[in-house]
Amino acid sequence: MKRRTFMQRAGLSGLGLAITNSLLACNTNESKEKATVAAATKTAEGPMVISTWNVPNANNKAWEVLAAGGNALDAVEQGVKVEEADTKNQSVGKGGRPDRDGRVTLDACIMDHQGNYGAVMCVQNYTHVISIARKVMEDTPHVILAGAGAEQFAAAQGFEAEDLLTEATKKDWEKWKETSDYKPVINIENHDTIGMLAIDAEGNISGACTTSGLAYKMAGRVGDSPVIGSGLFVDNEVGACTATGMGEEVLKTVGSFLVVELMRHGKSPQEACEEAIRRIVKDNPRAKDVQVGFIAINKAGETGAYCIHPGFQYIVNRSEKTELFDGKAAIG
Ligand code: ASP
Repeated sequence: MKRRTFMQRAGLSGLGLAITNSLLACNTNESKEKATVAAATKTAEGPMVISTWNVPNANNKAWEVLAAGGNALDAVEQGVKVEEADTKNQSVGKGGRPDRDGRVTLDACIMDHQGNYGAVMCVQNYTHVISIARKVMEDTPHVILAGAGAEQFAAAQGFEAEDLLTEATKKDWEKWKETSDYKPVINIENHDTIGMLAIDAEGNISGACTTSGLAYKMAGRVGDSPVIGSGLFVDNEVGACTATGMGEEVLKTVGSFLVVELMRHGKSPQEACEEAIRRIVKDNPRAKDVQVGFIAINKAGETGAYCIHPGFQYIVNRSEKTELFDGKAAIG
């Protein structure tokens, strides 16, 4: 055999070997991937709902929907609406703390088991932004509407406009203006912002996230909560995650998508939340001053939660009884 022919054949058979090897590797990876997804797709034993912070009324409402055979999407929407309407909760909906100019602006998003997603950002004068987000998801060709456009859409859909600044939040804001010192306090600035994940009797997962964002933020500031993959992500094959806390830090790491993707590759919800927090904290001089918390579920109904600093709580219903937990923390 002439040298050239030999080299060509050798090259070709080497290439063949390389292709076969990479196909084998692909197959092995593919079957590994299938194995991890298969492990996670053990379906949950029954419906469940989990939320950030101590929000028993919201969780109980969602449970009521699930217990009556309702689907996870309705459960999370109905559940978080309870907090949106509760003026005592100063981080969500009506009564939420305003931006530094005194305007209450709300962000929300919702995601269903088919990967559909809808969000609104920086919305004034409408309490139930989660329902507007659902309308965006179901009745428009878009996934996000912001500001005046979202308000115009809400009005056209028949949502009632109202003033969201209550006497109590107005007073707090006026007090804040005396110094205008902007320094969000860990576990205070974010208390009660609600992210909720539910599994229904069919084993389908949905999630919702709604907030007035950081108190005394700059006008136009939007956090992680309405951004797909940051404040919320649902993958019905694997699980779901939602976040609370300093949105800027969650956005930079696309936190909720990261947690779900880590679960897809075999991590438990707890391990995945811990890894996502580690990525935020690592080499981050801001970590000592900010709080971020994740909650996650997988298809089997296992839960996980992790945060940067102690003080984060989450609440779970697997029956009409709510269970409140303290989230484990990375620092302190
Ligand atoms: N994550 C929300 C935001 O950054 C606020 C919060 O959860 O406290 O807008």
